[in-house]
Amino acid sequence: MIQVHEALEIILSRIAFKGVEKIPISQALGRVLAEDVVARRPNPPLDNSAMDGYALVAQDVRSASPESPVRLEVVEDVPAGYAARKTLRSGQAIRIMTGAPIPPGADAVVMQEDTERDGDYVRVKDKAEIGENIRLAGEDVKQGETAVLKGTVLKPSHIGMLAAVGRSNIFVSQRPQVAILSTGDEIVDLDEIPSGPCIYNSNGYMLSAQVLSAGGVPNYLGIARDKEEDLLEKFQWALKADILVSSGGVSVGDYDLVKASLKKMGQEMLFWKVAMKPGKPLAFGKIDEKPIFGLPGNPVSSFVSFEQFVRPAIRKTLGCKDLAHTTVQAKLTKTVRKKPGRLHFLSSTVVRENGEYQATPAEEQGSGILKSAMNANGLLIFPLEASEIAEGETVTVQLLE
Ligand code: AMP
Ligand code: MG
Repeated sequence: MIQVHEALEIILSRIAFKGVEKIPISQALGRVLAEDVVARRPNPPLDNSAMDGYALVAQDVRSASPESPVRLEVVEDVPAGYAARKTLRSGQAIRIMTGAPIPPGADAVVMQEDTERDGDYVRVKDKAEIGENIRLAGEDVKQGETAVLKGTVLKPSHIGMLAAVGRSNIFVSQRPQVAILSTGDEIVDLDEIPSGPCIYNSNGYMLSAQVLSAGGVPNYLGIARDKEEDLLEKFQWALKADILVSSGGVSVGDYDLVKASLKKMGQEMLFWKVAMKPGKPLAFGKIDEKPIFGLPGNPVSSFVSFEQFVRPAIRKTLGCKDLAHTTVQAKLTKTVRKKPGRLHFLSSTVVRENGEYQATPAEEQGSGILKSAMNANGLLIFPLEASEIAEGETVTVQLLE
């Protein structure tokens, strides 16, 4: 039996970056950027007005106040998208709209609310500092600056930035195809009518969703019966994908035939059991360079094993910077106990109060209690050799959201 960190090292050492593809930014949400995007032009391109108002010379209005406004001649009107033709001189103002370039000669903008228009003149009722209400060229991004870094998982604001620097198409990482195969004579799909001891294929759908959320493309392959022929046939299909993930049938039961079937297919088995709970039986190996994960069947074991091992693998194929979930230090709100020898992941609720995280493990931690995992936003890491952590102590928690 190997430890969690050793298992992860073995897995990651066998996973390679998949490749890049070019896509329009309209389709790039959630994708991983595969290039440093450098601004070819500054944003904003020119010094421009942050307000609707009047561009002027700050020195002209140094004594302006509501009681003694300064009267300036309005010599031009500049809407956004146009440049002033005139050079501003002392004693003059130019009507300017938000986003319009600052006219030559002007060094400040007074907002409209601090002025009063009077025909061809304007009365300015407030003084202005040099540079007031002026947004400088390149204040968002300078020319030549890296606007969005390679490896970034693109959020809406990144898409905005890519557009701001004029990129319509970008290189992103190719998403790995991840085959999801459930196993078990007792498992039925959702369009079947369950009877007696049958249970729905919850793992198949949950794991598919986990693949999506990790950035991969799930290939849902349904259910293989606990028969070698069926497993072999379905695994053959699965080999079309980049990564294979099965659930169930990897334990020591009489009908746990996943390992035997994979062996027949020429799988190089790299490890089988991991010192963790939930999810001790976990088979990892390769067939023709394709990584194969045989996850345990119990839903919470499947869920947790995926988050610990398959998600980092998917993210490595994508070239992500951070492979694992973020961890935080949190104060434990109730004492927990276990037998030493396995690292436990406890479904927990993490809240932040007065700048401090607090973690509360769910009452029920069974590997079949999906409800606890569903209501949790974190996995508390209860170290391998520990047997008790007392209320008030600091624990490490992986944040799942
Ligand atoms: P196994 O590892 O095949 O012995 O399965 C362990 C437990 O997980 C059994 O109670 C199975 O019924 C359950 N299980 C296995 N596969 C699935 C699945 N696809 N969806 C829901 N539960 C499953
Ligand atoms: Mg089974």
